[in-house]
Amino acid sequence: MSSSSYLVEVNNVKKYFPIKTGLLNRVIGQVKAVDDVSFGIRAGETFGLVGESGCGKSTLARVLLNLKSATGGEIKYAGRNIHTAGNRELRKLREEMQIIFQDPFGSLNPRFLVKDLISEPLRVHRRMSEQEMDNRVVELMEMVGLDASRRNRYPHEFSGGQRQRIGIARAIALNPKFIVADEAVSALDVSVQSQVLNLMMKLQKELGLTYLFIAHGLNVVRHISDRVGVMYLGKMVEVGKTEELFAKPLHPYTSVLLSAIPKPTTEHRDERIILQGDVPSPANPPSGCRFHPRCPFAQDRCKTEEPQLQTVSDERQVACHFPLQ
Ligand code: SF4
Repeated sequence: MSSSSYLVEVNNVKKYFPIKTGLLNRVIGQVKAVDDVSFGIRAGETFGLVGESGCGKSTLARVLLNLKSATGGEIKYAGRNIHTAGNRELRKLREEMQIIFQDPFGSLNPRFLVKDLISEPLRVHRRMSEQEMDNRVVELMEMVGLDASRRNRYPHEFSGGQRQRIGIARAIALNPKFIVADEAVSALDVSVQSQVLNLMMKLQKELGLTYLFIAHGLNVVRHISDRVGVMYLGKMVEVGKTEELFAKPLHPYTSVLLSAIPKPTTEHRDERIILQGDVPSPANPPSGCRFHPRCPFAQDRCKTEEPQLQTVSDERQVACHFPLQ
């Protein structure tokens, strides 16, 4: 990985949570939520990160934003290691790296007026007069397609899509460069999802934003992502340009996720691949390839030897002993 070409670099990052028991809180094991994950995100691109719930993608996002510490590995933003940054540098990083959460209602304090929710980051990070703050709130609400005359109302007076726009206005208030959208449209109706995705793409162009866009389904990330990474049980199993990955998945798990996308006609319905077995626990992941108990193509080697993420062609990586042809 050429270090200079990425705005965000994730190098061999691990995040383990200790499993404790008894009065003495004895550590009896580790939940390996993120286990040796590496990838990079270029300035101005959208990197889609996909996987079932519990695969570690949201934990990875929080480690990436320094909201949680890493157990191992390093994360660089614009060449700087975010976990060794000093206080002043960290403050600057916090302005440049923002997050949009899944549940706009849960992430917005219901007792705050919308203007206060949007201006909260400005109060913390900027010295502005009340008038300057109000002008900025009006500007931000217009940028995200909200009627600024409603800024003195409460979040419950807005629809789900509008509340997500409030969350986006808050996220861009400090002119960030990098935004993590963690399941940002997953709770919205499909028609509202596409409106919010279009807004995010518009803002990306206007403000030169870089996104890490996290979702549990591939259909959502296709619309917005330049490249996609697929995670399974704490591991990155495939990375590729969006169109190439959709046209020809190399990892059996990617193929399963693709087959879960509803087809427009009934004739393809039989092509769905139904996964066997439950998602194994990250506290006790299967030996060898973590996907082997559920993989229709598993062979003996898969049970003992862990496949590494290998570069197979330009921008394409896969972790599988027997990638799909
Ligand atoms: Fe399936 Fe084996 Fe590939 Fe794992 S390494 S995805 S078990 S074929």
